[in-house]
Order: sequence, then C-alpha cells, then structure tokens
Amino acid sequence: MGGPEVERLISLLSKLPGLGPRSARRAALRLLQHPDTRMLPLAHAMETAARAVRTCTECGNLDSQDPCRICADPTRDRAVVCVVEGVGDLWALERAGAHRGLYHVLGGVLSPLAGMGPEDLSLTPLLARIAEGSVVEVILALGATVDGAATSHWLADRLAVTGVGLSRVAQGVPMGGALDVLDDGTLATALRARRPAA
Ligand SMILES: [Zn+2]
Repeated sequence: MGGPEVERLISLLSKLPGLGPRSARRAALRLLQHPDTRMLPLAHAMETAARAVRTCTECGNLDSQDPCRICADPTRDRAVVCVVEGVGDLWALERAGAHRGLYHVLGGVLSPLAGMGPEDLSLTPLLARIAEGSVVEVILALGATVDGAATSHWLADRLAVTGVGLSRVAQGVPMGGALDVLDDGTLATALRARRPAA
C-alpha cells in the first residue's frame, strides 16, 4: 500500500528509538497528510541538522559549533569535568541544570558482552585536558549498571596517576539505571551527593 516511497519512509521511521513498525506507520501517515505544514519542515530541519551538527572535539557533545556552546561558554566552571556515557546523559544533566562545569562524553561503557573495550572509548581528549592543568575535579556520572560501575573503576584507575580529584554520583541513581531516563530532580540530587571515587 502507498508505493515504494511510503514503504521506504515507514522503514526508515521504524528504525528510530521508540518507534516500532506500527507507530512508524502512524507517524508516516500523519506526515503524509500534512506535507506542507509537517513533512517538508521536518525534512528541511533534518537536512539542516545533518549538515550542521558535529561532534565537539573537546567534550564529545553534539552541536552546530565546535567547540560546542558548553565548552565555549566563559561562565562555565572549567575546573570541574563531568564524565558521562553518552550525549543523551549530557543533555539530561543540562536539562536538570545540575552541573555548571564542563563535560566529557566517553562514547559508551566497557562491556565484554557488547564487545566494548577501552580502545572503543574516548579517553584521550579528557587526559589532554587534565594534562593542561585546569581540571581540578572529575565527576564520574556513569549509569549504575554493572558495566557502568566497572567502567567507573577502570576510569578511576586510569585517572589516579594524574592526581586530579575524583568523585562519583551517589544516591538517586537506581541500580541498573541509565542516567538519561531519570527525572531532573533526581539527577540534580545525585550530582550534589557525589562522593570521592575510590
Ligand atoms: Zn564541547
């Protein structure tokens, strides 16, 4: 039904997080019914973003400028760097307004099952920033999953030699919890209640 154009649209939409085939069909139908007010503006916004947005070379955030707006913001506390698993976690912490320092996006966590090893994580830019001498504290804000905890230990080991202060987000992050699904208040509490990382 609808021809190859519609099939392709549904197929692409169904690959988005949270959209299965059924909701992809509904979304496609809604778009096709409003080509001028919904579909073309969306297509234009997607093309513009795809061309403009890149990975920040300092922290790993996604932004249309590099360094990103957070790294380039002179009012941010450059002494405190919060390490997160992914950009979604960074955006969640920003929404919560809980962190006034900078970030480092690790790009994943160590996971033998998923084939993620140390070489798959972004660590070099963080080590470079610490070596520059402006970083006083690194906050490990990885999820409280088994892999997240293992990665925090690994990172704490790697960063211990640098002499930088290390802390870890504490209460509020549920066991097995990913950061970016937490509500803003919980995130803010978890960040405030950080404790030294062993
Ligand atoms: Zn940045």
